[in-house]
Amino acid sequence: MSDRYFVETPISSDRAMLGGAEAHHLIHVMRAKRGSRVVLFDGSGAEFAAAVETIGRSEIELRILSREEIDRELPLRITLGIALPKGDRQKWLVEKAVELGVAALMPLKTARAAAQPVERASDRLRRAVVEASKQCGRNRLMEIRKPQNWAEFIEDSAAEPCRLLAHPQGFHRGADPLPNLKPPQSILLAVGPEGGFTPDETALAVAAGWHTIDLGRRMLRIETAALLLTAMASQWYAGIGRGEGRGERGE
Ligand code: SAM
Repeated sequence: MSDRYFVETPISSDRAMLGGAEAHHLIHVMRAKRGSRVVLFDGSGAEFAAAVETIGRSEIELRILSREEIDRELPLRITLGIALPKGDRQKWLVEKAVELGVAALMPLKTARAAAQPVERASDRLRRAVVEASKQCGRNRLMEIRKPQNWAEFIEDSAAEPCRLLAHPQGFHRGADPLPNLKPPQSILLAVGPEGGFTPDETALAVAAGWHTIDLGRRMLRIETAALLLTAMASQWYAGIGRGEGRGERGE
């Protein structure tokens, strides 16, 4: 899927323009020529076959040949609230969350985080979302939300039917989904910082109806815990790995 390019502006005619890093890659790395065929996506859920028409210094005009709706999303909308790790681990986490089908990532401000998330870092993370989507074939972009305080996050999510918090010594262990919970259409996950959630933060979530999930006896890094919790929720509620996820690749 490496010949996929992301177009910022929604494609609504038989022409599309590529600029910035995408055009640079196509012009200078792939050495596109007039007539070269590529696949475009604009985040709307569709994929477009296109041919290169005009090559400028930093822009490419393409002619749209066909449009196809190809749904590679999970049948369940997962939002991941997370105290982001530092440095390159952020980008790695974003890349893997995109691959696993997370719909939205919410950077959380928590008491014991080594570095609090800032809005301006979101541009870098959004670029990582595009790169990962190009590679894995998603036609909708994982949303990077504005950073939120823990208390606001808990309050705003009160209406969500299914909320799971990764917490060592959490109440729920084991491979089975939580009992008495119908497969939800959306699910909210939360993972804490390197220093862990404070007892007050955990108590606030539990009082608001969150389920705490123990991910085993080993202490996992933030990103490992996030991916494991996402994978468990996908298997429990979206049937991933049990055959029910078929069709996700658009087959
Ligand atoms: N000393 C911290 C503590 O006791 O919570 C360690 C935090 S851990 C590096 C970062 C986050 O990953 C935790 O806040 C939790 O959300 C999640 N996590 C890591 N290991 C876990 C486990 N075994 N079970 C549940 N959650 C875990």
